Amino acid sequence: MELNKDINQFDIPVAKRTYLNNSNLIFFKKLLIFSPFLFLFLSVSVLRLIRNIELKPPTNNKFQVERNHDQRILGHLPYNEIPKEKLVLIEPNIEVHSDMRNSLLKMREEARKDGINLVFLSGYRSINLQNDIFYSLKSIRNQEALVRARVSAPPGYSEHSTGFAIDIGDATQRETDFETEFENTQAFRWLKKNAAKFHFKLSFDKDNKYIDYEPWHWRYEGSIEALKIFESSNRNF
Ligand SMILES: [Zn+2]
Repeated sequence: MELNKDINQFDIPVAKRTYLNNSNLIFFKKLLIFSPFLFLFLSVSVLRLIRNIELKPPTNNKFQVERNHDQRILGHLPYNEIPKEKLVLIEPNIEVHSDMRNSLLKMREEARKDGINLVFLSGYRSINLQNDIFYSLKSIRNQEALVRARVSAPPGYSEHSTGFAIDIGDATQRETDFETEFENTQAFRWLKKNAAKFHFKLSFDKDNKYIDYEPWHWRYEGSIEALKIFESSNRNF
């Protein structure tokens, strides 16, 4: 026991202990000097935290608009994919939302009575297909995403995935399919004049600041579901 005591004393020399004590003293002195700054820093942090909590956007319309606006990617609004059970096939390779089927077919029928032959070019497109279109065409055309997005929606941001969008051509001028020149066809003139009667609206008119003019692309707004889906788009295009 005696030996152990001696060893312990030897292990922690007095000089060492004194040094440690001095070091502690210096530390506390430093702490005293810096404490106002530390206090200030902590106060600012707490205030910022409180401010952030208060600034969380409430779910009223004003903030909803701003939030929706922020959800855009390259000018396109996000759209969910329509559940499969709501899709109907109106002709080979063209599926649309069941709610717009009758109105769309009626519109084509009425146009035919006026001597206009509307052609349906593209209806529902899955997000996967939109993914292929956006990325494959982008690379074929050697375009950056920003440029490509002016003429094609990124996957998850296409009106076509809702089943409420339809691309229309003129049967007598197929060379104008998906082209701005479609606006010079009789089909387009007829649509401009009559589509609203069937609850169809041109989605990307000339005044759209994000997306190029698409005279062939129409969307259905004849049901509450459709109106809800396009609400953001109608408020700020
Ligand atoms: Zn389209």
